[in-house]
Amino acid sequence: MIARVQPLTRTRAVRGPFDYRLNAEQADVAVGSLLRIPFGAQRALGVVVELAEHSELEPERLAEPEAVVGAGLRPDLVALAEWMAREYCSTPARALSLMLAPGAADGTGARRVLVAELTDAGEQALGNGQTRLTDGQRAVLTALHATGRTPAAELGTGGLRRLESRGLVALKRRVRPRRPVKHAVGSASVIAPPLTADQDAALGALGHALADAHPPPEGFLLQGVTGSGKTEVYLGAVEATLAAGRSAIVLVPEIALTPQVLWRFQVRFGDIVAVLHSALSLGERHDEWMRLRTGEARVCVGPRSAVFAPVENLGLVVVDEEHESSYKHEGDPRYDARRVAWWRARHSGAVLVFGSATPRPESVRGMRRLALPTRVDRRPMPPVEVLDMRGHHQPLHPETRMALADLRRAGGKAILLLNRRGWSNFLSCRSCGRVWLCPNCDVALVLHRSRNQNPPTRPDQARPDAEWAAGPSGFVACHHCGHRELVPERCPSCASVSVARHGAGTERIEHELHEALGSDPTHPFPIFRLDADAATLDARAGTLQAFEHASAGVLVGTQMVAKGHDFPGVSLGVVLDADQTLRFPDFRAEERTFALITQLAGRTGRGVGGDRSRVLVQTLAPHARPIGYAVRHDSDGFVADELTRREVLSYPPYGSLIRVICSAPEEGLAREAAGALHAELTGLDAAVLGPAPLFRLRGRWRQQLVIKAQQRQPAIDAVGRAVATVAPGAARRGASVSVDVDPQ
Ligand code: ADP
Ligand code: ZN
Ligand code: ZN
Repeated sequence: MIARVQPLTRTRAVRGPFDYRLNAEQADVAVGSLLRIPFGAQRALGVVVELAEHSELEPERLAEPEAVVGAGLRPDLVALAEWMAREYCSTPARALSLMLAPGAADGTGARRVLVAELTDAGEQALGNGQTRLTDGQRAVLTALHATGRTPAAELGTGGLRRLESRGLVALKRRVRPRRPVKHAVGSASVIAPPLTADQDAALGALGHALADAHPPPEGFLLQGVTGSGKTEVYLGAVEATLAAGRSAIVLVPEIALTPQVLWRFQVRFGDIVAVLHSALSLGERHDEWMRLRTGEARVCVGPRSAVFAPVENLGLVVVDEEHESSYKHEGDPRYDARRVAWWRARHSGAVLVFGSATPRPESVRGMRRLALPTRVDRRPMPPVEVLDMRGHHQPLHPETRMALADLRRAGGKAILLLNRRGWSNFLSCRSCGRVWLCPNCDVALVLHRSRNQNPPTRPDQARPDAEWAAGPSGFVACHHCGHRELVPERCPSCASVSVARHGAGTERIEHELHEALGSDPTHPFPIFRLDADAATLDARAGTLQAFEHASAGVLVGTQMVAKGHDFPGVSLGVVLDADQTLRFPDFRAEERTFALITQLAGRTGRGVGGDRSRVLVQTLAPHARPIGYAVRHDSDGFVADELTRREVLSYPPYGSLIRVICSAPEEGLAREAAGALHAELTGLDAAVLGPAPLFRLRGRWRQQLVIKAQQRQPAIDAVGRAVATVAPGAARRGASVSVDVDPQ
């Protein structure tokens, strides 16, 4: 037999698959098997993408694979990788690499640990009271008697070895799956509540589709605000899927920030639920993946990469909070997990469900809509009030200050959203106007003042970690490349000591809140900050939990504070600088602004005190369209308006966008590569916009082309061919090309 193998290399130049001859012992190699193969003068890992009887090459010229490695992929995932490579102008090898068992490429396997067990002689020794045992030894034997097999490390390996030499204990190496720790978050119920009529209707439609051999390929959109009971509908659909003997994938934007969702699935379905996410250790991820691969687990909950879960007989794919940009992958291939979910569902005859309070216009237009128009607790949405910031120079509007002061007096919780971290946006010298810029990127450095940050990266300011403190005036950081430097005492250009700070970020707001709300030890009102400055996911989850458990207080942070989580008892929501997202030159700017306000409103006013709740929107653009729709809670109106606008401009869903970025250490090289691509694309039936310069990033100059096409597939194929023609030559001169189909 011949195996056609795709070697897992990063280079675009290698275009497999290549033929290998299987020997008699490799008879069970199948499509999807992971092999170690001789490849040129080296060894590589490769995935079998096809089996064949004959090769066009003579048998003597074919090498044999050296070994089968690990569990390999399911054949349907091999087909998915081939589709992804084409859809995102990438390579099959890169797509396949996303789907392997976590750690498979570097040899992560099942964990074996030393486990102790009581022997018959050990049992007798415990019982007869005649064997000489120290108190410690007796305690160990008693523990083993009570618990059965126990990892040796828990009882002390040295002591166990001595008992083993006397024949009282047996020590063996056994496979012991690493199970992710379960965090008990909030209360979740094993038993489904009686559904509301709306939930019942939605679940009915999904149940009907689940029973159908050909469910609607466009899928369902479950539209309802936070607290309208969407998750309860997902749970019901998963239950029906499991009852039919099939598997389910549930995608969530960010598990560390929304542990409640995972917890509800685990409580309802137990060990049949596996979880895959980046906060787990590699070993845990590997073992969870294997539980899915073997069918021991049939529900996978996780972020975008969980869309590749190796489940068998997929019956349901859920994408919760489908509007979230985290479903788009930033590395090559730049896949969109929502589109991959759609492909997988279609190819396995599975039911596809997207859910959101603020669905994307393309989902509203393309999918079957199921609505949950009210909150389960029947509380109305809080009123949204616009505060005009024109003419105000403080970051908090007087009305906002009053609302916070009221809250502090009456007790309650508030969430403040400002989509900008740090203290000030940028610094300038008051004498000569010098602005502090990043040496590697064409952007201003952002001032930070809180301590326990990472030390400066500027070589002349480097010092041992222990000595590092942010300094009296803080440090400035680049939010793109991570460059950091201390704020100097004097301007390096003119030696002036007067530096102006412009704008406010979350750190500054946190400080303002401390000033405004004061500290009264008898009446605590804690202030929590949540943004990407919290180094780890655990730290972020910890902040959210602390806010959840506090009886009163304020949570201030970037868009993270309006995601996923859902705490009853928040009676005030504030969006600061709401039009900030509108200032990005991006066709999704309005959608994003509307979503941010509406999502925060959805998380306000649930539970006790909900009736007195409100949402304040501070903005310099009080009449902006998305803000008006958010004030009226009019999702449908916003989407209808947005669709009209996009149709006129041929934006998605009325056309497809493809973005190509050429970058190089020299400006000319980037421009040359972009020009060459543009030339390759003449004749394509699509608008090719650019090349246009983008700001320099990490020391690389960038040029961008945007292709706006009515016909998606021909445009993708043409861009793929153009990149294949231009990229190798450009790469030799240090320029690189990256393609983003459906950019965010
Ligand atoms: P969403 O996912 O839309 O935010 P959830 O499914 O999380 O909504 O429901 C919000 C809250 O209401 C949860 O605490 C959930 O347990 C509860 N809930 C959902 N459906 C019902 C129901 N039919 N009866 C009672 N409580 C419900
Ligand atoms: Zn100066
Ligand atoms: Zn930078």
